[in-house]
Amino acid sequence: MSTPQGPAGRGRNTRQALVETVQAHAYTIPTDAPEADGTMAWDHTTLVVVQVTADGLVGTGWTYGSPVIAPLVRQTLASCVVGQDAVNTTSIWTAMVRSLRNIGRPGIGSMALSAVDCALWDLKARLLDIPLHRLLGSARNTVPLYGSGGFTTYDHDQLEAQLRGWVDDDGMRAVKIKIGKSWGHHLDRDLARVRETRSIVGDDVQVFVDANGGYTVGQAIRIAKQLDALDVRWFEEPVSSDNLAGLGAVRQHTTADLTAGEYGDSLNYYHRLCQADVLDCLQVDVTRCGGITELLRITAVAAAAQLDVSAHCAPYQHAAPMAAIPNLRHLEYFHDHTRIERLFFDGTAPPTHGELPLHPTSPGNGFTFKPETAQPFLTAGAAA
Ligand SMILES: [Mg+2]
Repeated sequence: MSTPQGPAGRGRNTRQALVETVQAHAYTIPTDAPEADGTMAWDHTTLVVVQVTADGLVGTGWTYGSPVIAPLVRQTLASCVVGQDAVNTTSIWTAMVRSLRNIGRPGIGSMALSAVDCALWDLKARLLDIPLHRLLGSARNTVPLYGSGGFTTYDHDQLEAQLRGWVDDDGMRAVKIKIGKSWGHHLDRDLARVRETRSIVGDDVQVFVDANGGYTVGQAIRIAKQLDALDVRWFEEPVSSDNLAGLGAVRQHTTADLTAGEYGDSLNYYHRLCQADVLDCLQVDVTRCGGITELLRITAVAAAAQLDVSAHCAPYQHAAPMAAIPNLRHLEYFHDHTRIERLFFDGTAPPTHGELPLHPTSPGNGFTFKPETAQPFLTAGAAA
């Protein structure tokens, strides 16, 4: 593709464009306040950005996880990518998966794979000079969102400010807070915070809760009945997502949709989850599951199980691919990741009426990474 044919950009799809470079860097960004959910507390988030180049263009993908993902990309995955035709995302993805066999695809292996695959899809769209959501076959022009945060560490003023921002400024029609504080040891406080949330957002906004696996089955069933009384519509990971029987048991005691899946790192994981028939909506994360290439297969498996999917976190990384998923329900507009992506990437427009707009003409994912903004957060020891 080094010699475009005809009008600018129109001939880019007629010749090979070999990947020239793969770069990966990790950035560790402090949170804007102490944060916790039912089973973890944190004060920073690590973003790993991968960039691939071909024919003078740059494709960018990213994930959130450990800084060691960056050297894993450079030392193991890059050799599967450099020199390959950039549009052959399937063959490159297959080579990357094979290269992880003896290292471990699950966890950080899949996060590294995901970031590179997302970068390659962005590059492919840029080489073809069309928006990524159009390359993938858009099903919609905007992506429905729900506001997500509501950390167990927040006091009333922090919670109210966050909820009001989502509802009043962003037009969100659903919001999610964390419950299950301290592994389910504060059920009364959990319920009080749900009541607080309902009183702030009113009756016209759906209230979701996420326990991050913090409850026992018995606790989850007991609180589920009280969440029903507060018209909670979404009960995420009431017990560990590995406890399929437990999820199924809780589901029998609530009218809220039972959801899980955010940690999934392969098609097989999601196939088992769908086959278990314990969920009302499947959560999937393109920055963990194996990238866009795997996401397309996972969402098809979900469709075959008659399940909607909901995208987990990394809202701007998800926007283009989720626009092409017919059984998409919504995308999680997660506080930490939203803050980072809006700061580090140009082109990240704010939500409108609770939906994320897709740029109709910008090639690729529509975003440009700003390394000069991210530089102060570059993680020591993970640099090249
Ligand atoms: Mg969750």
